[in-house]
Amino acid sequence: MSTHPLTSPLLSGHRRALAKAITLTESTRPEHEESAQALLAEVLPHAGRAIRLGLTGVPGVGKSTFIEALGLRLADAGHRVAVLAVDPSSARTGGSIMGDKTRMPRLTVHPQAFIRPSPSGGTLGGVARRTREAITLCEAAGYDVVLVETVGVGQSETQVAAMTDLFLLLTLPNAGDELQGIKRGIMELADLCVVNKADTNPQAAVRAQTELRAALTLLTPHDAPWRPLALRASALSGEGLDEVWAAVERYREAVDLPAKRRAQTAVWFDELLREAAWRAFQAGVDPEQLRQLRAEVEAGRLTAVQGVAALLGPSAS
Ligand code: GDP
Repeated sequence: MSTHPLTSPLLSGHRRALAKAITLTESTRPEHEESAQALLAEVLPHAGRAIRLGLTGVPGVGKSTFIEALGLRLADAGHRVAVLAVDPSSARTGGSIMGDKTRMPRLTVHPQAFIRPSPSGGTLGGVARRTREAITLCEAAGYDVVLVETVGVGQSETQVAAMTDLFLLLTLPNAGDELQGIKRGIMELADLCVVNKADTNPQAAVRAQTELRAALTLLTPHDAPWRPLALRASALSGEGLDEVWAAVERYREAVDLPAKRRAQTAVWFDELLREAAWRAFQAGVDPEQLRQLRAEVEAGRLTAVQGVAALLGPSAS
């Protein structure tokens, strides 16, 4: 028996209930947090059925055009498509530039689609947590494709890759320059690279694809279950989008997604636990004692291990 008032309408796929449920998870009022966790626990058994795609790329690469074009194709083919965003800068700017409905006007009004801007949760950790919860809620509401967009502020790509099944990097045809601009580590996260705007310079797009392929080959162990692909597309004309989706489907077959998700969840649980343990410690410690101990360690009168032991006991370090 469900007890939360949003559970039933959410599981029936009502968009308003989904929007309300996400708003509830974004609230920082304690009674809302409790209610949100109760709702999440109730719908959790109904989640997990979507393919979760992460998507990144520099501003202007064509993310929203790509998501709208791909999303419309999928929605027209009968899929239910949810678009979420991780944009920690939204806290500073007071509004998210990502996952913004005005950037995807046609997908926004499609009855099979749901678009939600990035939560403005303050820290990246807060935004990421709320986005994970939003994924669960979208899946419980019957969305079978969840796209999570990020623009790569700080560690946001790592966070999005850690909550999605497949991470897609959009790049531009001028690969030489583009590879320089791609932050270290992003290529390692990519399961799929797509050279967008191939229509603007087809030859350069082929060159970019070749360079990306070479880079990805270098990064991938020979025994990996999935070898990241480099494809070309035009989000504007739609060319190449079917191939992108075909690659997603092949990925789904090739990779043990339940195992990948279990590992992701375990890492996330440990992360939350570490943060909660640290907060609990800080709430209980005398700040003056902590300051003095740190000073003793800094001055070399205590070892760091002795300092920690003085606070938490000898078995702590
Ligand atoms: P975002 O900042 O990554 O979300 O990029 P947008 O989707 O807003 O696209 C930036 C600009 O590039 C817009 O003017 C789009 O119309 C254009 N654009 C996006 N994809 C393509 C494409 O495949 N071909 C061409 N020619 N233009 C594109």
